Amino acid sequence: MSALIFPVPEPRCGVRLPVPAMPAWLDESGHRPGAGCASVATQRKRPRILPVFLPFAGCPTRCVFCAQDVQTGQRGGANGIAHALEQAEARLEHEARLFQEATTGGGSAPGSPSTPNAGRGASALDASPSPLEIAFYGGTFTLLPEAERDACLELAHRWRQRGVVCRVRCSTRPDAVTERGLTALRTAGMDCVELGVQSFDDAALDAASRGYAGSVARAACAMVAGAGLELGVQLMPGMPGVTPEVFRADVHTALLPDADGAIPLAAFLRFYPCLVLRGTPLAERWRAGSYVPWPLDTTVDALADGLLAAWARGVAVVRMGLSPEDGLDDAVLAGPVHPALGQLVKAEALRRHVAAHLARLPGE
Ligand code: SF4
Repeated sequence: MSALIFPVPEPRCGVRLPVPAMPAWLDESGHRPGAGCASVATQRKRPRILPVFLPFAGCPTRCVFCAQDVQTGQRGGANGIAHALEQAEARLEHEARLFQEATTGGGSAPGSPSTPNAGRGASALDASPSPLEIAFYGGTFTLLPEAERDACLELAHRWRQRGVVCRVRCSTRPDAVTERGLTALRTAGMDCVELGVQSFDDAALDAASRGYAGSVARAACAMVAGAGLELGVQLMPGMPGVTPEVFRADVHTALLPDADGAIPLAAFLRFYPCLVLRGTPLAERWRAGSYVPWPLDTTVDALADGLLAAWARGVAVVRMGLSPEDGLDDAVLAGPVHPALGQLVKAEALRRHVAAHLARLPGE
């Protein structure tokens, strides 16, 4: 229902900015055949996210609240990246078969020379599964060892050529990006970078031992957008040091406009209310009484304000609360966890929006 009131743009396949140069493993022409997903997927379809979880991969430290192995349902470890890529490869093979059945009736594979997609018209394409967006999540992608980062990018590129994948994104820390590195990522086919900003507030970042200042996070946002990458900003209401007022200010900062003052730098936001997860340093603080998580009603109240602010700027909030991965429930020791948190927040935001309009009506 909110979309009727606040139309919010969402990413679609085929929307690409200019690519500055050519990575070593692209075609010599520099042409990226699958870039627009035109061979298999229609531009009318929204991509589905295929998460490739790389728990803690590349992370310089383990953040106090973070339990990526629990949050992602993946163990990580020494062969974690190779294993994650193998799993992704298997899933992509499966998706390719589905595309093949839908678009050719079981003929040649998507993207192969004999694929008769072009002649089958819109109806066959409409029946095909929506395209995929590969998302490298759970670690610090920009600090991965080069060989592992290249292996991830090569997998994404190869499946993009086959037309099964139409977009690629990754998550990383604000202090782990450089202009040069982001340009290289963009060149290698990355479309979107999500920054785990958590907060722009210096005192909060210090209290959570994040290791960077708010100015670094703001500069990182500008760098991502400046490199021609879509920017996603992840915020953590309730992180140590983040009060509801700090969170509201963080949302405001995340929605600041670009240099031309036209649109916000961030294309979308995620709100991850801070939970106390088993095995984290935050759990120790919570047991010692030095950290108290936000109650659920405080969380809904603050997030509803954040959501209204984002809607007003035409920016989507694509996630509120952690994904319900296996084992997460058992790992949550305390915090504002709720199976329908996003729905609670949206309902409250809509109530406030309607109430504000009703208050402007004349009469009783
Ligand atoms: S950098 Fe991100 S993924 Fe790595 S430990 Fe910190 S919060 Fe977790």
